[in-house]
Amino acid sequence: MRIVLLGAPGSGKGTQAQRLQARHGVPQVSSGDLLRDAVARGTELGLKAKAVMEAGQLVSDDIVLGLIRDRLSRPDAAKGFILDGFPRNRDQANALSALLNAIGQPLDAVLLLDVRRETLMQRLAGRRICPKCGTVYNVHSLNGVTTCARDGTELYQRPDDKEDVIAKRLEVYEKQTQPLIDHYSKLGLLRVVAGEGEFEAVFERMEAAALTKPVPAAAVRVSAAPVSTKKTVATKKKTVSTKTQPKKSRTAAKSAKRKATSKPAKRAVARKGARKVAAKRASTTAAPKKRSVKTASRSKSARRKK
Ligand code: ADP
Repeated sequence: MRIVLLGAPGSGKGTQAQRLQARHGVPQVSSGDLLRDAVARGTELGLKAKAVMEAGQLVSDDIVLGLIRDRLSRPDAAKGFILDGFPRNRDQANALSALLNAIGQPLDAVLLLDVRRETLMQRLAGRRICPKCGTVYNVHSLNGVTTCARDGTELYQRPDDKEDVIAKRLEVYEKQTQPLIDHYSKLGLLRVVAGEGEFEAVFERMEAAALTKPVPAAAVRVSAAPVSTKKTVATKKKTVSTKTQPKKSRTAAKSAKRKATSKPAKRAVARKGARKVAAKRASTTAAPKKRSVKTASRSKSARRKK
């Protein structure tokens, strides 16, 4: 699995990437996490990146590329990777493609998590994170709790999750990262995933999109069997005959016809089920008769004894 996750800040790329990593054993490579780690360790690179990140701007391509190149050269990335937050502009996309071609590991797919702007704002402004285990919460569901449910650590707000910085990040996304949607779409790599709704449902869609193999056009064979005239006539006949019925039964006949044509398999199953129920009913109704015969004979002999 060699994939890129595209999506606005707050679209859920990080959370979904973590889950994909846990399920498929392929590492999540997050440019944001690599940068935050450099900032926390106070490296030269981290010191350069800190102010840029806190202003919601993009860190220079050479810094980010250096981090990504190092990370992808680690042994665990040999079996694949989930790139989260990288690439973020055309130059980074070109650099990535050159890097992957050089190591003979081209991308399988690019997954775009599609989320409305108002949802993004709500998620980002309310986001609180546990500094110890990384669990992400939202103030709207915390009900005043300020500590992590797992380890009791005080939660914090990312400095770039302040409202004015969020607006800047979304603007940068629209200008610099959104053009990548078109870029990857033209390369035939883009898959769009609806990113709102229950976490599990979004994850299922992500996973399906990540695992689907594209089919080359040359391998697609669409059967073009002509529709049999017999069938057409039969359908026409049915349509005509319903008109001769009263309106109520015509509607019923139409809906029955719709059901018959659209879900024949379901109907067959339903018929089978009905037959089973009928058979069961027949056997259970037979049982009390037997019992009542026995009861009757017992009471007869009881009467004899008396
Ligand atoms: P989000 O996607 O929610 O904005 P990230 O953790 O991916 O959060 O990124 C946080 C910040 O790190 C970005 O606002 C930006 O300053 C910097 N950053 C992350 N990835 C890149 C990148 N590929 N290129 C440049 N800057 C980046």
